[in-house]
Amino acid sequence: MLSSLPAIGARFDIDKVNAGAYGIECWKVFWRALNPEDIAGSLLFEGDTAATLNGQENVYCIVVQHLDAAVAKQVRSALSQSEDFKKVCDLQMFVEDSRCRSEPLPDAGRIDATGNLIGDAWNSRPALGAIKKERESANEKSTSLDPVPERARPASDRTRTLPSLTKFEDVRALVQERFTPKDTDFSYTYWMTPEELCDLAEQYADLLEVQFSEYSCPRSEDLCCVRLFEKAPSDGRPIELAGLFAFPSESDARSFINEYKSAPRYARALPQLAGIKGKYQLNFGKGSENPRYITYEKDAEIPAASLWGKFWIRRQRFAEGLEHEEQAARKQAEDEKRRQAEEEKRRAEQKLQREADEARRRDAEKRKQELIRERTSRRECIACGRALGTLEKLFRRTSHSGCHSFHE
Ligand SMILES: [Zn+2]
Repeated sequence: MLSSLPAIGARFDIDKVNAGAYGIECWKVFWRALNPEDIAGSLLFEGDTAATLNGQENVYCIVVQHLDAAVAKQVRSALSQSEDFKKVCDLQMFVEDSRCRSEPLPDAGRIDATGNLIGDAWNSRPALGAIKKERESANEKSTSLDPVPERARPASDRTRTLPSLTKFEDVRALVQERFTPKDTDFSYTYWMTPEELCDLAEQYADLLEVQFSEYSCPRSEDLCCVRLFEKAPSDGRPIELAGLFAFPSESDARSFINEYKSAPRYARALPQLAGIKGKYQLNFGKGSENPRYITYEKDAEIPAASLWGKFWIRRQRFAEGLEHEEQAARKQAEDEKRRQAEEEKRRAEQKLQREADEARRRDAEKRKQELIRERTSRRECIACGRALGTLEKLFRRTSHSGCHSFHE
């Protein structure tokens, strides 16, 4: 926490929250009462209080710091009016400023000027994504979506010829063989486009149970995950792919790439492999592939053929943001081109100027040499042009003794 900024901490009674992942539950209460836009520019912190760590109480604290003390007032007022918060708060609901800043609480992300939650936000982001989804489904209008367009088949050369397979593990082997990035020293992952994933799911539909889920997690408020389980019930690991989502910000997308800087060739290839565009990751990469008993969701199964429609809807959701990113990228490219053109023009002008200066200098030198020759032949002082005296002629001088400067 910053030692000088106004700070307010909301105190939750962990026993009343009564959940294993109580951090996320507390943040849900927080985000139901406050929109990120309301507290734009805030720093967020979270964790068990010092007294909790010492076994003296059982309190989880969410802290908001902001340059403007009015934000603390707003947080206090919004949470004081929240029935959800009243159900789970500690007897001492809030703690402020120095008493709050002395708590050993880790970073929980920050809100940028436009109200995005950015940075590492282990509990606060999953909670925020869940609350946003709650609100969306609450005021869901029967928006008529455009019909899903046909997609190009095959998606790529990598899915042009897919062999017929009879065993699930052969599908996994094929995915590893075809989609593991080559020449990057990084062989335990794979990447593919949404269309390639559709080709695979459709080709091996008989062997697969396709599960589609969207959820919020520390990486994104709205992650998309496709799990391909073996169709016959088994306890095995799925083939799991996550992608087609937005990072909280472009800098968070860059941080993701930086996680691999110890494998520089892979890190260089990653933006292309993952289809990173600004803050978006448009391709799918290998997920955690936890076994069935952990990740299997009964209601998440969809027909392989409807995967494309799901992806298309997500793409539509990103369309505006992507257009914005592309415009920004185009503008940046144009600016760079203009800057280079100006730089080239400036260099060319400088070169012309230097050449003109050089030509003038040569002309002046030439005229000077001509004058010297003329004056010498007429026995005149080469400096002042007046006639030389008898002694100067006798000693073959070319100038009067006081006229030396002309030589220099
Ligand atoms: Zn002279």
